[in-house]
Amino acid sequence: MVIIDGKKIAAELRAEVAARVAGCARAPHLAVIVVGDDPASAVYVHNKAIACEKAGMRNTTVALPASASEDELLSVIAGLNSDPAVDGILVQLPLPRHIDEDRILAAIALEKDVDGFHPGNVAALFQKRPCAVPCTPKGIMKLLEAYGIEPCGKRAVVIGRSRIVGLPVAKLLLDANATVTICHTRTVNLAAVTREADIIVVASGHPETLRGDMVREGAVVIDVGINRDPVTGALCGDVLFDEVAPKASFITPVPGGVGPMTTACLLENTLELYLNRP
Ligand code: NAD
Repeated sequence: MVIIDGKKIAAELRAEVAARVAGCARAPHLAVIVVGDDPASAVYVHNKAIACEKAGMRNTTVALPASASEDELLSVIAGLNSDPAVDGILVQLPLPRHIDEDRILAAIALEKDVDGFHPGNVAALFQKRPCAVPCTPKGIMKLLEAYGIEPCGKRAVVIGRSRIVGLPVAKLLLDANATVTICHTRTVNLAAVTREADIIVVASGHPETLRGDMVREGAVVIDVGINRDPVTGALCGDVLFDEVAPKASFITPVPGGVGPMTTACLLENTLELYLNRP
């Protein structure tokens, strides 16, 4: 069994991005908007700012109070859309309930949509046209590639059908010629489906969604989850690692698996948006 070292692969990607940034006429510029004071979001936004700095990129964080209106947020986005010095715009999710997420994501200029959640980018991904690929799914595919795991012809099972992770990663696996099954909360007998899988991507948002008896010997297991263990408070994924790892051929740990790849891919996407500017 091999524990996939997401930290190492992410560090390599960040170094590659930094080297490309060093050759740019100016520093690519990522703007991150965060609304409210969710502690997890604050940590993610802080990490993104540091990662930008280390890669030689410019970062602007716009923090709005939880009480900010949808119109206020739209006006911040409009300002960044028309600012020629900004290359990528990311709105940290989730947003407070009174704000319509769809409306906000659609308001980001398509050519600055670094997370790939704009409907134009979603359509492009599903039509196999060039687009900004969402960072977490992109990072997962890079991990598979880095470890020589070839999805072609494999049975891949994705647990979760969110727009952020489950759906786009299923599409990327399909594009890589895997035979893909998407499972969700209404899936009947999840274990029977996962036991057939060569590659399992778990993005359910619940610890212990995938246990040892749900996995066949030699499966590749990618754990996307970021949860807090209710007892110890430690960071944990959606996979019961101690049970699943002994049966897996490759498995990602939490932390140190998919998470670092998300940030590294964000940097790469920002650089690509900068390079794609007319
Ligand atoms: P989400 O809540 O939007 O979606 C969860 C999906 O899982 C839903 O489609 C639901 O139907 C399905 N699901 C939930 N419980 C299930 C179960 N028991 N059996 C089968 N299906 C089930 O979550 P999300 O935004 O896709 O995120 C998923 C997890 O990934 C979360 O833990 C999140 O924190 C984490 N995440 C990590 C990164 C990263 O960079 N590592 C990035 C994004 C999200």
